[in-house]
Amino acid sequence: MEATIPFYPFIVVPIGAAIFLFWRRARWHMAILRSGRPLDRFDRVPERIKALGIFVFGQKRLLQDLGPGLTHAFVFWGFIVLLATTGNYLTNGLVEAIVGWPIGSFFWSAIVLFANVFVALVLASVIYYVIRRTVTRPARLALTRDAFVILGLIFSIVLTEWIGDAFAYVVEPESPSRMWAVMAGPLSLALEGIGPEAAAIGFGVTGWAHIALVLGFGAYLPYSKHLHIISSEPNVYFRNLEPRGALRKMDLEAEPEEGEELPVFGAKGLKDLTWRHLADGLACTECGRCMEFCPASMTGKVLSPKHLMEGLRDQMAAAETALAAAASAQRAWKGGAKGGAAASEDALQLARGRAEEALSLPLMDNAIPEEAVWQCTTCGWCVEGCPVLIEHVDTIVEIRRNAVLEESKFPKELNAAFRNMENAGNPWGQPKSSRLDWAKGLDVPVLGQTDALAPPSAGVQPWRTIHATAPTGDPLAGRILFWIGCAGAFDDRNRKVVRAMAQLLRQADVSFAVLGARETCTGDPARRAGNEYLYQMLAEENVATLSAAHAEHGISTIVATCPHCFNTIRNEYPQFGLTGVQVIHHTQLLDRLVADGRLVPSAHHEAVVAYHDACYLGRYNEVYDEGRRVVESVPGQSVVEMDLHHRKGMCCGAGGARMWMEEREGTRINHKRVEQALEKSPDEIATACPFCLIMLRDGTTDLSRTDVAVRDVAELLADATGAWQRDVGAPAADPADLPAERAS
Ligand code: SF4
Ligand code: SF4
Repeated sequence: MEATIPFYPFIVVPIGAAIFLFWRRARWHMAILRSGRPLDRFDRVPERIKALGIFVFGQKRLLQDLGPGLTHAFVFWGFIVLLATTGNYLTNGLVEAIVGWPIGSFFWSAIVLFANVFVALVLASVIYYVIRRTVTRPARLALTRDAFVILGLIFSIVLTEWIGDAFAYVVEPESPSRMWAVMAGPLSLALEGIGPEAAAIGFGVTGWAHIALVLGFGAYLPYSKHLHIISSEPNVYFRNLEPRGALRKMDLEAEPEEGEELPVFGAKGLKDLTWRHLADGLACTECGRCMEFCPASMTGKVLSPKHLMEGLRDQMAAAETALAAAASAQRAWKGGAKGGAAASEDALQLARGRAEEALSLPLMDNAIPEEAVWQCTTCGWCVEGCPVLIEHVDTIVEIRRNAVLEESKFPKELNAAFRNMENAGNPWGQPKSSRLDWAKGLDVPVLGQTDALAPPSAGVQPWRTIHATAPTGDPLAGRILFWIGCAGAFDDRNRKVVRAMAQLLRQADVSFAVLGARETCTGDPARRAGNEYLYQMLAEENVATLSAAHAEHGISTIVATCPHCFNTIRNEYPQFGLTGVQVIHHTQLLDRLVADGRLVPSAHHEAVVAYHDACYLGRYNEVYDEGRRVVESVPGQSVVEMDLHHRKGMCCGAGGARMWMEEREGTRINHKRVEQALEKSPDEIATACPFCLIMLRDGTTDLSRTDVAVRDVAELLADATGAWQRDVGAPAADPADLPAERAS
């Protein structure tokens, strides 16, 4: 007797129904994606395939959170393995016959073994998920009906396969795969008493149930958030392979083609996003990882990157309904033209107009509330944490661009920052002539005004590649430009940091020069606030200056103490033609100078130091450990990690031009970050970013904890090497910036 699916030819009916239902919705998803802007993500195929291996099959991001990550991986891998055995049901044993054909039952038995192991793992994982969602539910997970429908379907699919296989083994007890079926085999022993005839009926019933559930599951996907089962793979494949810290360059000169409308700057509605950013809305699993460490979500603000994706998907669903209505009006109109249905031309135009409106409906205040658009610090956690590689920051910045460039709609505080950057070349509004005030009393060479720049010294150490387009090699072998940045030039507290850095370079006998009054703001705050016009104006000016510095003075390395300047020059200025220079952060250079023995931190300083990762240094550029090594190079100093560190490091609240905006809602982000540091009872907090320094210092002041000094790693190192003493004109350190025992 053989276990077969009774009335098998009728399977064409549920298969046809499932395909129809799937297509009925999926085609509108595709229509929405086609309405988006073009984006070329079809290059670098090997890298894209590698990403599939890492993020989809390897489940890399999910496995960073072991419990839920492992159970998700079991379900994912289980589905791949169970595809073969489910395929066997759908083809009434054909898969087994084909797999068993060349060398007998060996391959099929191996598949059965894997499938049975995964039956157990998937069932256990689904039970874990239900408990997690109902009992131990983390805040990031919502209790939705859809989630339980899907969990119920997965459980039932696997359960019917398990029971169906067990019935089959009762019908065919001599089947060679039975001994490998570690789940269905034992169950078949328990069922043996019912006899083969009853087991054959049982197999037929569970077999049909299994087929119906599998086809129903497939048909339901385009209507559910679990569409990610099939949409996350393309989302990962078409990931951004450019440096993460580089925003898309806008073509501000774009002219409309004949008969086309004027191009829209940024993203007003759905059709202004690229197809890949629209696809983000379809790939979101609603897992909430993106909001877990989002500084805005963590401090009670409206912004949630997860809700942005949900909002995007809802807006897409509404547009799909409008498109479907327009298509149905079109069909009716055609019928009417042939004398059939009575749909009028007016009805068709109305439906088309509604579809167009739905695609142009503003994202702001529909997909995302207006205040949330401005609450983002562009810290990049959401992008780093998302398992399906959604690019939230790009979408938020595109919405900001439209608001700024087309609607002039932005927080009023930004007016002053924009005006100052435009008129004075810095957000502080200070005159260009005071750009060198930080160096008073120091003999700092200014490029083009001095020949103090020594010939390149003969460095030999290899250096990590900094940027794909930059020359590789030793930065110390070339000529170094010390980029001061606006905070270093104009903020009193940060002037001490750039002084420390200049003195350390002097002490290490590194030849360098600065640009002086020719330096202007990199434009980072303007770009991240959506003012691409202003950003491009500043970027073009700086790129011309830096290119001339390279061509005329042989500058091959730029070192910056500000991660925002570092990121912009390194990752975004190549968009404007900057080539031939490598850009490094001062922590990288200091780490190297200490390792080479050119800086010797000899003064003992007993201190536990909490190291704060700057987002644009760590997450965006993966410079994590150099600053920590510099701190720990000082005898007596040790680093204590906050709970959120390295890739999970929490933003200080200043990024994304938030430095220049009021923080009106929820807890202040810098307070939250300082509290996280204080939990570790540090003696000091170390930063490697001028904006983090300002924010965290304000935080310790507001929380009455000025006993915990906030200092840049360059200052900590300058203390230990005695570099300060090399500066006859250096101002006395502000006691508020020193650890308690030094201030006294
Ligand atoms: S970039 Fe940072 S602040 Fe903005 S949404 Fe993402 S996690 Fe939140
Ligand atoms: S955007 Fe990514 S991390 Fe956030 S809920 Fe969706 S899938 Fe999860």
